[in-house]
Amino acid sequence: MSEPIIQVRHLSKSFGTHVVLRDVDFTVNAGDVTCVIGASGSGKSTLLRCINLLETPTNGNVLFHGQEITAKGFDPCAYRAKVGMVFQSFNLFNNMSVLDNCTAGLRYVLHQDKETARRTALANLEKVGMAPYIHAKPRQLSGGQKQRVAIARALSMQPEVLLFDEPTSALDPQMVGEVLAVMRQLAKDGLTMIVVTHEMAFARDVSSHVVYMADGVIAEEGTPADIFEHPQNPRTVEFLSRFR
Ligand code: ADP
Ligand code: MG
Repeated sequence: MSEPIIQVRHLSKSFGTHVVLRDVDFTVNAGDVTCVIGASGSGKSTLLRCINLLETPTNGNVLFHGQEITAKGFDPCAYRAKVGMVFQSFNLFNNMSVLDNCTAGLRYVLHQDKETARRTALANLEKVGMAPYIHAKPRQLSGGQKQRVAIARALSMQPEVLLFDEPTSALDPQMVGEVLAVMRQLAKDGLTMIVVTHEMAFARDVSSHVVYMADGVIAEEGTPADIFEHPQNPRTVEFLSRFR
């Protein structure tokens, strides 16, 4: 088997005296769709943020293709182009058009020329059904449309891995489906994804691996069948019962 894309080893994170992650071990292989589930406050966002270097781990390390990203001298900019992130609150640049949102990283981080960046952005906006809106500003869009633009922006960087932090939690219910449909298609296309979500049907149907977090530890992990049909940990059983 080839080397994992991401390895999280003995990762711990504290904020002051508050221990948020304890000794988390976690591996992602190419093509995996890993869903991370768990109650609010269990450390899911912090785990993603450590993987993306938005937080510095207190202990342990994160390897990308075997290379330690937490090592001194490592360039976080180049790394973040390869490991993209989609946030609950979209984080679009509100003063820029849809197209400029998607070309900004290509131009200013990857130093592509205007025309190349435009072509890449358009192809990805097409993929999420947002090509007709290239001149719109984020405020003119619905939440579902904004999130689809955010996904197109992340895809434009041609990441090897895309991290999603509760991408549908800020959306009105009628817009959740359009975003999940885009994510299902990305999974089908073979994109490696780590998805923090409360959408259990999505986790069950789309993921190759499910991680259940409780109080800063991985309480249980396995295939969707393991977790949703034969959970071993009573805490997993209790957590999942909230969604029935
Ligand atoms: P989840 O995403 O599972 O809801 P988080 O990773 O956001 O959990 O948070 C886990 C815990 O860490 C929470 O108790 C939260 O208050 C705390 N926390 C997260 N970020 C910070 C921060 N920057 N400073 C202090 N505490 C934080
Ligand atoms: Mg969170």
